[in-house]
Amino acid sequence: NRSKSQKALNECVKVIVRCRPISKKEKACDGASQVVSTYPRRGVVEIQNPNEANKENRKTFTYDAVYDHSSTQKNIYDEIVRPLVTSVLEGFNCCVFAYGQTGTGKTHTMEGIRGDEEQKGIIPRTFEQIWSHISRAQNLNTFLVSVSYLEIYMEELRDLLQPNCKTLELREREKMGVYVPNLHSVTCKSVEDMITVMNQGNKNRTVGFTNMNEHSSRSHAIFMIKIEMCETDSNTVKVGKLNLIDLAGSERQSKTGATAERLKEASKINLALSSLGNVISALAENSPHIPYRDSKLTRLLQDSLGGNSKTTMIANIGPSSINYNETLTTLRYASRAK
Ligand code: ADP
Ligand code: MG
Repeated sequence: NRSKSQKALNECVKVIVRCRPISKKEKACDGASQVVSTYPRRGVVEIQNPNEANKENRKTFTYDAVYDHSSTQKNIYDEIVRPLVTSVLEGFNCCVFAYGQTGTGKTHTMEGIRGDEEQKGIIPRTFEQIWSHISRAQNLNTFLVSVSYLEIYMEELRDLLQPNCKTLELREREKMGVYVPNLHSVTCKSVEDMITVMNQGNKNRTVGFTNMNEHSSRSHAIFMIKIEMCETDSNTVKVGKLNLIDLAGSERQSKTGATAERLKEASKINLALSSLGNVISALAENSPHIPYRDSKLTRLLQDSLGGNSKTTMIANIGPSSINYNETLTTLRYASRAK
């Protein structure tokens, strides 16, 4: 409840929670129960420690919105993302992050199930909204839509549309702000063009890695859409950017038996996620200092985080007692982010 808070919170930052349905595996697990209760109308999530019978010990968190197991891909899109894409088409920059432990539905939320009309996720739905807007626009206006797709793994940037290239650099120049020299960008002319680029990038996430799932759970995938709009009659150009980010899994990396490489990797994943949390909470509180510089992820997205930009974090969780600790960590992270 915002009115309770003394501080003026930044309306451009929203944090929502999505709890996926219990899985077959969790159901089959002996002794597993559901520990998460959601109250979508009040934006509340409650979690019960399975090792404490006392119901008084439930922890309660409030968010901008809460989606339960019955929420559909369309619900999330229409209520959370559609207004952001409308802003991008007016020349604003926006970010949508999917945060959460591996297996909680980040990729399901962002990409969804390919070729399934109902189950397609946020990314393909944004393509449709963009092109439907463009097709309805007066032909006095011209649009240039371009897409980049990259990932950050171990604090290194890789271009998913040019997999054989060297790692990319982040640079900063006074007027341009932060930019990535040589980042490939593909001009798209239709929904189909954008889907082709997305699929190509997804395929390249696996290149050079023996275990696709393991790799993708440890890297951040960043899908960037830039829309340049030229209003011929007034001779003005507006630019809107949309960044759609499937973050690395937030689970604590196991230290037992971990190699030196794994430990280094774990600390870098933690660095990016905690620095993102710090940036979002500083923005939400209208803090004068936003710590963008602490990770590549926040530096890369600097011009789309803060200022006039709109940011939405979707924190994904599962309902099962098996994941109690990680789920509580996610709920805390998401509530601190706001
Ligand atoms: P993550 O990307 O966070 O690791 P996934 O998106 O791969 O998680 O989801 C893990 C599994 O749970 C997949 O089989 C996915 O289809 C399923 N799943 C996730 N969210 C939902 C949901 N809201 N409804 C139905 N199934 C879901
Ligand atoms: Mg995933």
